[in-house]
Amino acid sequence: MIKEFKEFISKGNIMDLAVGIIIGSAFTAIVNSVVKDILTPLLGLLIGGINFGGLSVKLGDAVITYGNFIQNIIVFFLTAIAVFFMMKGINSIRSFGKKKTEDTIAKAPTTKICPFCMSEINMKATRCPHCTSVLEDKEEI
Ligand SMILES: [Zn+2]
Repeated sequence: MIKEFKEFISKGNIMDLAVGIIIGSAFTAIVNSVVKDILTPLLGLLIGGINFGGLSVKLGDAVITYGNFIQNIIVFFLTAIAVFFMMKGINSIRSFGKKKTEDTIAKAPTTKICPFCMSEINMKATRCPHCTSVLEDKEEI
């Protein structure tokens, strides 16, 4: 039993799983906060402060609290919207970083300026394609 448990714990991915759960619950707290503290009050303003949660219908002894159901659906959609915009934000940060790297690569000097006509020409050119001046003796500083 103990040996089995040790193997189970030391498999490695259980720690990854734990980290995932911890990050996941922290992320859930953020999403819930965005929905509860920001989106729900904004929606409340839009629909004139109606609280669906209080709506219910009595059928004999049964109380159908359909208001809670509507409230939960709204919270679900607000959560989906919050997650969507978060993912959009994260993706744009990611692609921004990627774009920067690409720009840096692109900015590695592949061209030089022809000293005769000031045109941008290939780094390895020995003759300017614009003014046909021979460049072989000119070493760019
Ligand atoms: Zn030139």
